[in-house]
Amino acid sequence: MAQRVQGTEDLYGGYMRAWQRMQDVAREVFGTYGFDMIETPAIEQVATFVHGIGESTDVVRKEMFRVFSGALVENLLAKGSEQGLKAKQRLALRPEGTAGVVRAAVQNNMVPQGSAPAKLWYAGPMFRGERPQKGRLRQFHQVGVEWLGAPDPASDAECIIMLMRFFERLGFDPKSLRLCINSMGDAACRPAYRDKVRTFILDHAGEMCADCLERAELNPLRAFDCKNAHCREVMAEAPLAPDNLCDECDQHYEQVKRYLDEAGIRYEEDPTLVRGLDYYTRTVFEVEVVGSGVGAIGGGGRYDGLMELEGGKPTPGLGFAVGFERIVLALQAQGVDLGGKPEGCVYVACTPDVRPQVFGVALALRDAGLRVEADHQGRSLKSQFKQADKLGALVCVVLGTDEVAAGMATLRDMRTHEQVQVAQADLASTVAERMA
Ligand SMILES: [Zn+2]
Ligand SMILES: [Zn+2]
Repeated sequence: MAQRVQGTEDLYGGYMRAWQRMQDVAREVFGTYGFDMIETPAIEQVATFVHGIGESTDVVRKEMFRVFSGALVENLLAKGSEQGLKAKQRLALRPEGTAGVVRAAVQNNMVPQGSAPAKLWYAGPMFRGERPQKGRLRQFHQVGVEWLGAPDPASDAECIIMLMRFFERLGFDPKSLRLCINSMGDAACRPAYRDKVRTFILDHAGEMCADCLERAELNPLRAFDCKNAHCREVMAEAPLAPDNLCDECDQHYEQVKRYLDEAGIRYEEDPTLVRGLDYYTRTVFEVEVVGSGVGAIGGGGRYDGLMELEGGKPTPGLGFAVGFERIVLALQAQGVDLGGKPEGCVYVACTPDVRPQVFGVALALRDAGLRVEADHQGRSLKSQFKQADKLGALVCVVLGTDEVAAGMATLRDMRTHEQVQVAQADLASTVAERMA
């Protein structure tokens, strides 16, 4: 039997309905803020991720799912290295959505100078090349938002509010959501802050793990979320980003908080919150579900330098992404089934002698926009009713010899078991009424 690739999942039934429901809620909520959907390819040049996500991140260094076309693989195996490959031959499946969307915005000139911002949202699978483990899939799903060309602190606040509204609409208990925010500074103040943190780590070199010592050179701020508890204890004494902001960043952060307060959004300031990727500037945020044990269900921030890194003009921007699989788990923990039940249907049942009439009746009901099921296996009327129940039919249309001869049908409400006779000509409108 052919096997699914390790670390991947088949989405069907309730799980598929949950994924579709999440996209429906995204379309509704993000639409009210003026966002349109975008779909970029799942496969991009490695350079797009190196520029956009950063060479020093784990995502780019260890976790990318590399892709080589068939002809190249032989070549690579023969040479034993990818040296000499052109940029367009070095490909990867996207590990996240932002880099590709920003690449698309630059390439298609979506934010020409002086124009309105591009407001985009996406939904799709993301990929990781490392060995799959529990809770870490090779193919997982994200919904995200990118808002390009928006410098105003009000956009940071709107982005955060939109994210919280999205979670509420999915069914989360608002009191269970913990929103943490921080400011990581910008090109003017962050380099000096990074140096301070680097110096702090090197001053405490004896107490830190090997990973953190490596981070001190590459990306010292990542030491704040080291998996090693002792490192985090040491880092609790390290200089904090909000104390090291320049005036502009400080004012920006204060205004974001003022807008959140005005909207009645509860948040906690976490001065050690550093998002994993290099490109964030100023506002960063993360949301977790208290007591769910699934970690952060979404997060994002401002990335004013990113368009430039992808080859565009300097353009401020911000965004967030949320993880489908974690959200489903966290909702389950709150007793919410995001997939819900399948849409109710109409079942057309019949006695064997009028079987040919079912074809036309089912067709007319479907053309009226109803979801219709019928028997295709020559079952008895009794087993057809059983099947109708199993399929969650709300209404059964029953055709027998007498009904067909009189141009009528029996309508059976599956919830109340009430039966009425309806002229076949009025069937579609009467059934539609009952279904509503
Ligand atoms: Zn460490
Ligand atoms: Zn600054």
